[in-house]
Amino acid sequence: MNPLHFSQPVWRRSPRALLAGEPISAPERVDLAVVGGGLQGLSTAYAAAGRGLSVRVIEAGKLGEGASGLNGGQVIAGLKHDPEWLLRHFGETRGSALIDFAAGTADAVFDLIHTEGLDVEQVRSGWIQAAHTPAALAAAEERNRQWQVRGADVTLLNGAEVALLTGASGYLGGWLDRRGGTIDPLAFVLELARLAAQAGARIATDTRAIRVRREGADWQVDTSAGHPVRARSVVVATNAYSDRLVAGLSRSLLPLQSFQIATAPLPADLRETILPHGQAVADSRRISVYYRKSPEGRLVFGGRGRMGAPKSEADFDHLQRAMVRLFPSLEGIAVEHRWSGRVSMTPDHLPHVHEPDKGLLAIAGCQGRGVGLMTALGPRLVDYIQSGDPAALPFPLSPIRPIPFHALRAIGADVAIAWRRMLDGLEG
Ligand SMILES: Cc1cc2nc3c(=O)[nH]c(=O)nc-3n(C[C@H](O)[C@H](O)[C@H](O)COP(=O)(O)OP(=O)(O)OC[C@H]3O[C@@H](n4cnc5c(N)ncnc54)[C@H](O)[C@@H]3O)c2cc1C
Repeated sequence: MNPLHFSQPVWRRSPRALLAGEPISAPERVDLAVVGGGLQGLSTAYAAAGRGLSVRVIEAGKLGEGASGLNGGQVIAGLKHDPEWLLRHFGETRGSALIDFAAGTADAVFDLIHTEGLDVEQVRSGWIQAAHTPAALAAAEERNRQWQVRGADVTLLNGAEVALLTGASGYLGGWLDRRGGTIDPLAFVLELARLAAQAGARIATDTRAIRVRREGADWQVDTSAGHPVRARSVVVATNAYSDRLVAGLSRSLLPLQSFQIATAPLPADLRETILPHGQAVADSRRISVYYRKSPEGRLVFGGRGRMGAPKSEADFDHLQRAMVRLFPSLEGIAVEHRWSGRVSMTPDHLPHVHEPDKGLLAIAGCQGRGVGLMTALGPRLVDYIQSGDPAALPFPLSPIRPIPFHALRAIGADVAIAWRRMLDGLEG
């Protein structure tokens, strides 16, 4: 069994998808080495190869086995923080540029699918943040105001409208962000790999980067293939799956396990009442759940689980219970798929861009929004690599800050999850 998930996700491999890469069979020298073949690594590789750089991607597993092929396929614009928070935190110039970047992350995905004719099923009918308490509704109102004044296609929903769009009962209202939508995430990451390879990037799968060190003006990446890759620049795009390649990186992140289940394809009457227009939904509970329909009409329902990888089907039972609480009509409908993957969180809820030494970049911490974020970030990383101008990056460079008592956090987080789940239960 693949250690990354319990059973296969529901997502699809396009027949023309790139599955196997080009092994590293001799020492190489390239302009850019990218470690990690998820959305971040591949969007960087695609952008760099398209601009004429020689690129080698080094991926430890198979393509799509990281978070990028396992996720919920919800394409979400924006960051966890609202625009006015970004302005206060980063100041007018950097904050405004970041708001513009964040506003366009969902566009980056859908535009790529359309302009390159990617074989990726997608529905762009919006993303709903559904509010289950008055406080969550007030936050939705505030978010709506802040994005509306900036011209975003967003709207506030009342309880009846959320019930109609989701088929779930019990929400007081919510926020519809029409910039968002859903895609098949595995198809997308595999198609992006195909594009990157077509543009000239060479992708090695089943090859681990085991050491990165400076060699004169270059970097050398030692690999499990037994041959090194020398490069002017290195992008470490390992995110929640980061190991010890870059000192302190994995300890600067809180990698959480996100669990997902998918029902059998829903019967026609349920398809018409549950998410009839195909929106993606995340709800406002402390232990948030998120859901969407798959192209085959399954309900794909996700949320936090235990901290480690699942050990049995029972580790997914809490999700099935949460799903039936929201959708009582799903009682008795079979759950056919269960899987999980790692999401990386940072203490300040912002993605972090590090450059521990000139030419060595590491980016991590998508807070469960990496589909749009990482797709949009790749070209910006290449802008920075080519120009050396930090203003080319949407996020300021920051030092790697390992979290104190990192190893104990997993235990603490399990307790915190149980506590928050209980509070959510009290709120209904
Ligand atoms: C279950 C789940 C549901 C999610 N749902 C959503 C969602 O609906 N919407 C959304 O926007 N985001 C979602 N996310 C988050 C999103 O999937 C991630 O933010 C995004 O995929 C991160 O992309 P990445 O390329 O940075 O990392 P990954 O896709 O994780 O890629 C990192 C890669 O690095 C490789 N690697 C690690 N170490 C090495 C090494 N030493 N050498 C070589 N390779 C190495 C790994 O094998 C892995 O393939 C979800 C995540 C999970 C797990």
